Amino acid sequence: MALLLLGLLALLVLAWRWERRGRITAGTRLAAAVELAGCVAALGFAITVVAIDQAVTPNVTPFLIAALLTGMLMLLPPTRSLPLYLAAGASFWLAMAVAQPDAVLRLSNQVNGLTVCAVGWLLSVLLWRRFVEHEALVEALRSSEAELRRQQQRLRDLAVRDGLTRLWNRAELRRRIERELALAQRHVQDCSVILLDLDRFKHINDSWGHPTGDAVLIAVAALLRRNLRGSDEVGRLGGEEFMLLLPQTDLTAARQLAERLRIEVAGLQVAPVDLPITASFGVATLPGWLKLAPAQGFERLYAAADAALYRAKQQGRNRVEQAPELPLP
Ligand code: GH3
Ligand code: MG
Ligand code: MG
Repeated sequence: MALLLLGLLALLVLAWRWERRGRITAGTRLAAAVELAGCVAALGFAITVVAIDQAVTPNVTPFLIAALLTGMLMLLPPTRSLPLYLAAGASFWLAMAVAQPDAVLRLSNQVNGLTVCAVGWLLSVLLWRRFVEHEALVEALRSSEAELRRQQQRLRDLAVRDGLTRLWNRAELRRRIERELALAQRHVQDCSVILLDLDRFKHINDSWGHPTGDAVLIAVAALLRRNLRGSDEVGRLGGEEFMLLLPQTDLTAARQLAERLRIEVAGLQVAPVDLPITASFGVATLPGWLKLAPAQGFERLYAAADAALYRAKQQGRNRVEQAPELPLP
């Protein structure tokens, strides 16, 4: 019996070593080892009980129950259940050889023991197959869920960003400006916008083609993004027209920023364009004390900045013009 237990223990150690070579994580490795130890203990205990019982009865029911229940309940991969059942069958065979003196009963019990081991192993393989199928399903579900989340993010992005420059699109920028105007009114703070439009952009398209025009738009967008403070927002209203939102910023500060941006845009180089790339700017500010509905505030700001931009174009382009202090009529 001591030999039998030693054999089962050796089997457990062997399983541990196999486990370590596999690709199973530490947690599942421990759970699998505990499960294997449970199987070894159940089968070992049943063999011991049956061997002792042979002194009074040739009954092998405890081993039969242990082998079948182990196969039905314990989750073991076939690479581990096969040696387990082989070892259990061999141990049972030896135990009968030692414990059952009657030759006919001994052979009958030994054959029964081997049969029950084969059935136990088959049950264990079936259970494992179910488990593998279930795991594959869970994995497929997980990856399609991740894909769905990526697609949702992409859709959300498409709804709020401009496809070419990745800046906010017109609708999203307007939403953000209106939200900021509501806040600015509550805290009685000025809020400014800078509207800019590239000069003679059509000429760039006509001379170097649309892809180059696109490259210029992307370069200008990157320049604007680089010059933003944390609370500022920038969007592309359409074509070659951009708008910046500057919360808590008065007209003088907004104008200074517009002037700095004008100089930076004029220094931009996008091959193969060999003419200066310039833009005209219109700046407008909504004073914090002016109580307007956010949508109305946006309309006023936009109209005022647009009028200033128009003047900048009229006066020769590559310049900054500011709107008169709001409220305008
Ligand atoms: P101005 O100085 O008066 O603003 O002149 P402009 O040529 O910049 O203005 P205009 O409105 O005449 O031309 C704008 C051009 O911008 C025309 C249009 O084809 C081009 N455009 C609009 N959207 C895009 C775009 O996404 N990519 C490219 N490459 N061109 C665009
Ligand atoms: Mg233009
Ligand atoms: Mg334009």
